[in-house]
Amino acid sequence: MTRLRNLVLVLGDQLNTDSSALRGFDPGRDLLWMAEVAAESTHVPSHKARTALFLAAMRHFRDDRRNAGWTVNYRELGEHEHPDLAAALSATLDDHSPERIIVTQPGEWRVLAMLRDTAKAADIPLEVREDKHFLVALITFSTWLKGRKAPRMEHFYRWQRAETGILMTDEGPEGGHWNFDSENRHRFDSQGPGMLPAPVSFEPDEITRGALDAVREHLPANPGQLDHFDWPVTREQALCALDDFITHRLAAFGPYQDAMWTGEPWLYHSRLSAALNLKLLDPREVIDASVSAYRDKQAPLASVEGFVRQVLGWREYVRGLYWNRMPEFAEANALGAEWDLPAFYWTGETDMRCLAESIGQTLEYGYAHHIQRLMITGLFSLLYGVRPEAIHQWYLGIYVDAVEWVELPNTVGMSQYADGGFLASKPYVASGRYIQRMSNYCEHCPFDPTKATGERACPFTTLYWDFLVRHKDRFGRHPRTALMWRNLERKPEGFADRVTTAAGHLREKIAAL
Ligand code: FAD
Ligand code: SF4
Repeated sequence: MTRLRNLVLVLGDQLNTDSSALRGFDPGRDLLWMAEVAAESTHVPSHKARTALFLAAMRHFRDDRRNAGWTVNYRELGEHEHPDLAAALSATLDDHSPERIIVTQPGEWRVLAMLRDTAKAADIPLEVREDKHFLVALITFSTWLKGRKAPRMEHFYRWQRAETGILMTDEGPEGGHWNFDSENRHRFDSQGPGMLPAPVSFEPDEITRGALDAVREHLPANPGQLDHFDWPVTREQALCALDDFITHRLAAFGPYQDAMWTGEPWLYHSRLSAALNLKLLDPREVIDASVSAYRDKQAPLASVEGFVRQVLGWREYVRGLYWNRMPEFAEANALGAEWDLPAFYWTGETDMRCLAESIGQTLEYGYAHHIQRLMITGLFSLLYGVRPEAIHQWYLGIYVDAVEWVELPNTVGMSQYADGGFLASKPYVASGRYIQRMSNYCEHCPFDPTKATGERACPFTTLYWDFLVRHKDRFGRHPRTALMWRNLERKPEGFADRVTTAAGHLREKIAAL
């Protein structure tokens, strides 16, 4: 019998048929390998919808490849006894003893290390191929990063615009500016957003229903709900979701990208992150579609540039930083934060309306938009002083789009400032007044965002001033943050002591908040 040539691994977030691992695949000599293992959903507790999304998309991919005549060795959850990926892979290596293992660069440092260890233990060479899904190769990013003390996203983004020619003219950036923030970042007036275009919804087919059942049966204790599951799980559905966003929501994306409103989880956001991260969509086609909408006068430049900035800028930038700074990145705790994650992050049961809304919809859908993540759940964690590792694990499990290369830099770097300012030039801190300005949450809340102390004091506002007091030495003279600390100095005598005491009481009664 001839020996198996290549065992080609496809991980749950590598579902593009043009992925580099699949190049040169010979159905006569190679075997495709995929596995569903419980440990990937329990090493951090994964939202049921997140796991169901991965399983449903993987099963569709498996069937697509089988229909193309490929042999796929696929282990479904519950069909095998292997507790984790390493055990499942070792068993296959024992059975087939391939000449080589091939994989596209995984999305998580832990998984890459595990694959290397497993291949080494079996004494079979492992070939890790570059992930061509991304526009910027890791080596290119490393070259750009080299020698930069403060590698800001803005510099990376402008460089990428120039390199790719996206939204560029011979004279410079399209419209004469690199960003149009002054036209964006509006709030809704007191009437709210009004009638919103409902995003396209994908009714689970038989394969997806099987994945939902598997999660119900094998992971009943995991957080989150499955009742509203309607995410795209195939390439065709992902393309339909892209078209739906471009046609119905992109035009208003820019102005309202920072706004929040009770009971409205999607607003004008694209909901494309999960499809992108599973590689059902290519970022180039997403960018092209939005730029075409601008050229066809379907969407204004401010919205299109704002959207391109997220995909070409932030998404590529955080990935580059992740691979350059792991594994130390995961251990960073520059502000010495040491509190546990409050229990309400897992239930949404708190009187603080902004948190109850943002966490409630997260548990319902596995989704919150960027400002809810950064300026509600992330902000509370930062001000309260949650251990970065604890909040990182929550974000890694709780969102359908969570894969560590994108989640960790956003959490540890951007949101928690745990990397000491490598990613973000300043900590994203604000009081409850920011939330009051950008949403209607405070209208339905027992707390008052203008009050830092007293019975109705808003916990965000108390903790904001407490944060300034606690970190005065670190940021008080920092050029980008000094203004906030000057405001602290202008407060009446005794204010700093009063907020310190109020913050202490708040920490004592956190379970009852
Ligand atoms: P839109 O608002 O429509 O944005 C368009 C696209 O731009 C997104 O689909 C996404 O691919 C990309 N994008 C936007 N912001 C970012 C960003 N900061 N970093 C990287 N890409 C971005 N995004 C994830 O994909 N996975 C995560 O696990 C994740 N964790 C996060 C954790 C924290 C603490 C924060 C503050 C942000 C996190 N983000 C993460 C970034 C962002 O919040 C999500 O990409 C976005 O909310 C997804 O919804 P959407 O597709 O409707 O995005
Ligand atoms: Fe959140 Fe404070 Fe507003 Fe309540 S008052 S919704 S806790 S910001």
